[in-house]
Amino acid sequence: MRPDLLARLADAQAERARASLLRRLRTVDAVEGATIVVEGRRLLDFASNDYLGLAQHPALRETLARAAARWGVGAGAAHLLGGHRDEHAELEAALARWTGRERALLFSTGYMANLGVVAALLGAGDLCVQDKLDHASLIDAARLAGCTFKRYVHGDVASAARQLDTEPDAAALLATDGVFSMDGDIAPLRELARLARERQATLMVDDAHGLGVLGADGAGSVAEAGLSQDDVPVLMGTLGKALGVAGAFVAGSAALVDGLVQSARTFVYTTALPPALAAATRVAIDIARHEGWRRDHLRRLVTHFRTGAHARRIALLESRTPIQPVRVGDSAAALALSRQLAEAGFFVPAIRPPTVPKGEARLRVALSVRHAEGDVERLLDALASAGASLPADTAVPETPSTPAPLPRARARRGRGRKA
Ligand SMILES: *Cc1c(COP(=O)(O)O)cnc(C)c1O
Repeated sequence: MRPDLLARLADAQAERARASLLRRLRTVDAVEGATIVVEGRRLLDFASNDYLGLAQHPALRETLARAAARWGVGAGAAHLLGGHRDEHAELEAALARWTGRERALLFSTGYMANLGVVAALLGAGDLCVQDKLDHASLIDAARLAGCTFKRYVHGDVASAARQLDTEPDAAALLATDGVFSMDGDIAPLRELARLARERQATLMVDDAHGLGVLGADGAGSVAEAGLSQDDVPVLMGTLGKALGVAGAFVAGSAALVDGLVQSARTFVYTTALPPALAAATRVAIDIARHEGWRRDHLRRLVTHFRTGAHARRIALLESRTPIQPVRVGDSAAALALSRQLAEAGFFVPAIRPPTVPKGEARLRVALSVRHAEGDVERLLDALASAGASLPADTAVPETPSTPAPLPRARARRGRGRKA
């Protein structure tokens, strides 16, 4: 007899619940500044990727409304079939200028951008080498491409080299997140660029969490590392995180973009982003580029959080970005901590497998310009009260209090991930 698909799904659900891995969809009823109302409870939101506070920005709202009045709500068609409006073209030009690339191409989401570009570049017989902690969309992209897929130890360039060397004659894409979404650390981009050049591989960086946050004018982790289009020929960024809107892009040479227009299936076979969103995103880029105080404020919050966590014996991961995970380990414990924080008025989600490796459940604290230092202080107190502090007889891993660049620290891997 054939297995029943829906019954099998229900079994998996029960299994997840037993392992404290069940995820629950919660409806947010209101957003005001850094506060969200979830199921009748007002919580200070430490979960959002709206790092620069742009999702609620009045200038973006006004532009969106004005552009909707001009263009209507939806694009109504795929880019190649009449959906490509001048708002899209202008946004692509602005993204290319900002990231220092020749051209950029819009996609509807980051997930689709990754699927589209990787599957357009690679096929059977080719090689994709990725960091173990790359985003799910990059992993799925390699699977979709049907290429040989190898993963290397997180942040370990020598391990990446070994994986590239398993197929020395295959056309190869080396792909990494710029900032790791659940860890907050930054890939060793300069070393990876050197490796890619030595091994004739093409380097791709997914900068979903670096764009707007890192680099002098917010152009991201690749800009901060001083890497050109030659160093990182494929740059992907998203518009729904620090830019506060929705969508994504791939930037690089004219040859790359022209090729993607023909062959990236997630570009060709989908409706173009609403043009009004493209218009709002251009305003978001202007603000992200020119209002450096937003990044300064974020850096102060990061320092404040890390210093305060260290004083309270709260173990963090090694991160200088607004993503500041609190180490927990056990999924049930992470869930219990998250619930206690909610009782105390803070929304901090527990991140559990399979989003993170087994035994590495954590609370993912995301800092935003919308937070004040006092908010961070209150969160730290709540974390300590909820029992996130380590016992007095255990060593708290060193958490550098100054978010200065950590150029070589990545070579040391013993960050106690298994703790
Ligand atoms: C969020 C994220 C994506 C997906 O972007 P969406 O626009 O949300 O689909 C891709 N890569 C990374 C690293 C991300 O964090």
